[in-house]
Amino acid sequence: MSAAATTLDAEFQNRFGADADGIWSAPGRVNLIGEHTDYNAGFALPFAITARARVAVRVTHGGEAVLESTFAGAAPVRVRLDELTAEDTGFSGDGGWARYLAGVVWAFARRGITLPGLDVLLHSDVPVGAGLSSSAAVECAIAVAVNDLAGAGLDRPELVQICHEAENDFVGAPTGILDQSASLLATAGSGLFLDCLDRSTRQVPLDLAARDLVLLVIDTRVTHAHESGGYRDRVASCRLGERVLEVSSLREVSAQDFAERAHLLDPETRRRVRHVVTENARVQDVVALLDAGRLEDIGPLLTASHVSMRDDYEISSPELDAAVDTALAHGALGARMTGGGFGGSAIALVPIALAETVSTAVSAAFERSGWASPHIYAVVPGPGAGREG
Ligand code: ADP
Ligand code: MG
Repeated sequence: MSAAATTLDAEFQNRFGADADGIWSAPGRVNLIGEHTDYNAGFALPFAITARARVAVRVTHGGEAVLESTFAGAAPVRVRLDELTAEDTGFSGDGGWARYLAGVVWAFARRGITLPGLDVLLHSDVPVGAGLSSSAAVECAIAVAVNDLAGAGLDRPELVQICHEAENDFVGAPTGILDQSASLLATAGSGLFLDCLDRSTRQVPLDLAARDLVLLVIDTRVTHAHESGGYRDRVASCRLGERVLEVSSLREVSAQDFAERAHLLDPETRRRVRHVVTENARVQDVVALLDAGRLEDIGPLLTASHVSMRDDYEISSPELDAAVDTALAHGALGARMTGGGFGGSAIALVPIALAETVSTAVSAAFERSGWASPHIYAVVPGPGAGREG
């Protein structure tokens, strides 16, 4: 067991007065490119990071779920399993976090897969609201746990679906399958090329060290919540674009279709659709470069993705723009905001020799603007979800 798993095991014993049946964990993710394409049946290229959510779980027999997290402000929640519904209001306020766990249990139950009761303790080192998908890490950790404990034997794509239902139908965040796919299907050392139309995946080599490159995460520490506002509006714009262009998803819109038919769209919807169309093309271009062993050449595509999110999709923030611009000015090969937007993190692809220079410059730029000092660290593709002990 990892040191983190051993600590969680001891804390579970401390809180629940009994041993956990096991520890399961699932990673957060960085999306290298392909933003807001997943709910448009498009392409994305995420990878799992080494930061993970872990759950210690014990099967009990009283028909209740007792859900606890070590996260500050996350109140313990007790809920009867036979009373879990998508309209559940027992998770308000400080208990709201527990919907991410309960939603997964609920989605299993929909399929007739149940446990007689469970105690869960969650601890995650994926930062919350930083664009690294702490929510999917939580869902996927409990999903692999329930799958094992119930002896359900569901495959990973089915677990992606369960976690997606939990987040959409139970929590109420209208997100796609990107985060859950990365957490459940990614492997160490690779990016996960994901086609959200047929949900097929392919591992693409992503060996940064072999090219003397690092991928820096620049966490602006401006957090977001995808249950609210802007994210939902963007989804609605895409649905409007589909109706006007008479397609079942924006995936079907090629660059040429767009050029010919964009005039049918109002200016705002036109910008939103243009982001999705061009982003799908950029993902495919990045994958082609990685397949050809040209990792060092993907930078301009990453930066073009950022510009598209800043100007067309309008989901960036002054902090994210400053992080990207400053990283580029000090030697990054490419940089972009990552994740759903409205805060969170940017990533920058940087030659190892310049990593320190870029970090220092970004921190200095934030200080000059009077912003909280960003968290900057390197990430590498780590393993997907699984049992730890
Ligand atoms: P992110 O980009 O981090 O996924 P979301 O808004 O989608 O942001 O999900 C963040 C939410 O997930 C938190 O507000 C909380 O409800 C839940 N969550 C994530 N990690 C934890 C944790 N360690 N303990 C409790 N809840 C968590
Ligand atoms: Mg999330």
